[in-house]
Amino acid sequence: MEKIAFFDTKPYDKESFDRFNKSYDIHYFEDKLNAETAALSAGCRAVCAFVNDTIDSRVIDMLVTNGVELLLMRCAGYNNIDLKYAKDKLTILRVPAYSPYAVAEHAMALILLLNRKIHKSYLRTRDYNFSINGLTGFDLHGKTAGVIGTGKIGQVFIDICLGFGMKVIAYDPYPNHDFAADRGIEYADLDRLFAESDIISLHCPLTKDTRYIISDDSLRRMKKSAFIINTSRGKLIDSEALLRALREKRVAAAGLDVYEEEADVFYEDRSGDIIDDETLSLLVSMPNVIITSHQAFLTEEALSAIAQVTLSNADEFFSGRKDDLANRVVYGM
Ligand code: NAD
Repeated sequence: MEKIAFFDTKPYDKESFDRFNKSYDIHYFEDKLNAETAALSAGCRAVCAFVNDTIDSRVIDMLVTNGVELLLMRCAGYNNIDLKYAKDKLTILRVPAYSPYAVAEHAMALILLLNRKIHKSYLRTRDYNFSINGLTGFDLHGKTAGVIGTGKIGQVFIDICLGFGMKVIAYDPYPNHDFAADRGIEYADLDRLFAESDIISLHCPLTKDTRYIISDDSLRRMKKSAFIINTSRGKLIDSEALLRALREKRVAAAGLDVYEEEADVFYEDRSGDIIDDETLSLLVSMPNVIITSHQAFLTEEALSAIAQVTLSNADEFFSGRKDDLANRVVYGM
């Protein structure tokens, strides 16, 4: 039985992988994959990693020295891998789509919470405070959603917004004109999207072009009433610039499922610690900011799909099919 070293294991990962695994000897480690832990891959031809693991040149060398040939990413994104360095050293397979609904629905959940201030009413009524002062929101119906990235998740999010009676404008360097025509939505450039949107939701990957797509400059071009929603990757937003814009009331609210310095904090119980990230602490303390811990993917359906696709990726590789692997990640893709 091939051995797989499985990093950054949470109870829900083990549960879903154990449910579908018939063929592999999976060694579950709670540690994240990085230069301190890569040695745990000894004796394994495959490792399984997730979004906050560090797969840089040092780690890649350590894995290869240990005899690892296959890196199974149990996620869609791969911005945490040095792909250029990994070329010709490791085969990298990912799960390109597991549930676009999970992420798009979470984005809408953040919008609804922020707008209707459900996070505040929940706390009030638990304390028998039934006052509704200060909880006024606005109708989403008739408002404009600006969607950056119209791939699988962006399209589902657009459909949800249309269901709410919103107008949608979208930006994507590779526009899907058939989808836009079918749904009656418009593509626009970023200048127009920033200027006209009431809700701005990010559904693009993190690349050198999208890093800090939400910056001091773009925040200054938005409506004062704008909500910024990020369920994609933390570094799409310059968080210090966002914090300044929120404090100076240049934008109205932010819903963040990802954060640029999330790797040391998200997915861990740090409730007993002093958090030494001032930007994160200040964002968490604001009434018009909701932060969730990179949980947008976390539905039963998505966890099952992640386990099934990751295991079938391993099956394809170990059956000897090395050239024509459907979910392969290659440098320059
Ligand atoms: P996808 O590949 O189907 O779509 C991404 C879209 O972004 C594509 O249409 C692409 O053309 C577009 N794009 C590329 N460069 C762009 C740019 N410079 N500006 C605007 N758009 C650009 O991906 P997807 O499945 O829809 O996922 C989108 C992102 O969601 C992923 O990259 C990942 O970072 C994130 N994600 C987050 C979670 C979570 O739990 N929070 C889970 C899954 C995915």
